[in-house]
Amino acid sequence: MTHLLEFKDGKSEPLGTFYCVGRNYEAHAREMGAAPGDAPVIFIKPPSAYLPPELPFRIPAISKQVQHEVELVAMVGGRDDTLHVAAVAVGMDMTLRDLQRAAKERGEPWAVSKGFRGSAPLSPFIRIKDVPCALAELSIELSRDGQTVQKGRVAEMRWGVAELISHIDSIFGLAPGDCIFTGTPDGVGPVHPGERFTASLCFGQQVLTSRVLEVR
Ligand code: MN
Repeated sequence: MTHLLEFKDGKSEPLGTFYCVGRNYEAHAREMGAAPGDAPVIFIKPPSAYLPPELPFRIPAISKQVQHEVELVAMVGGRDDTLHVAAVAVGMDMTLRDLQRAAKERGEPWAVSKGFRGSAPLSPFIRIKDVPCALAELSIELSRDGQTVQKGRVAEMRWGVAELISHIDSIFGLAPGDCIFTGTPDGVGPVHPGERFTASLCFGQQVLTSRVLEVR
C-alpha cells in the first residue's frame, strides 16, 4: 500500500521512508540524559506510522507512557548529487517512552517504541518555494489544550537539515518522498486521552502549516 503525503496546495505525493534523528537539540539531549557531543541517533519508522492530518491519535494498549516530540519534518526531492529539501511540515515523533526506556536498558532496538502504527502524525507539507525564509529562520511549537509545551528554533539544531540529508544519504541512500524527522527541542511530555495538541511550523508570528492532534 502506498501512503500519500498531503500538501497545503491540495496535492499529494507518495511517502518513502521516515528517517528520524535523535539528540539534535542540546536541551532535549540533556533532559534525556545523553552525553554532550554524542553523534545523532538515526532510526526509522515504517510508512504505516504515517498519521495523515485529519486523523486522531489512538494510544496503543501496549504502553502506559506515550510522549510527544514536536519536530520539523523535511521531505527530500531530487536524486543523487541534486538531493535537496522539497517540502517541510511539522510532525510529532510519538514515542512509547516506557517501552523505549526498557529497550535502552536491554540494548534492544526502538522499532516498537518509535515505529508503531500512527506514531508519525504530520501537518500538510508546504513546498520549499512557498517558505518565505531560510529553514534556519523557522521555529516549531506545540501546545496542549492551548498551553505551549514545546518550542524550538531550527537554528538551535546541532546538525542542520542539509547536513542531515548528506549524512543519512551516505548511509542509506535517500530518494524523493523520504522524510526526515529532524529532532525535538526540550519539553517532551506525556499525552492522555481527551487532550488536544496543536503543532505549528512558524516564521516569526506567521504559521506556515499546522496540525491539530486529538488524543483518543
Ligand atoms: Mn524525536
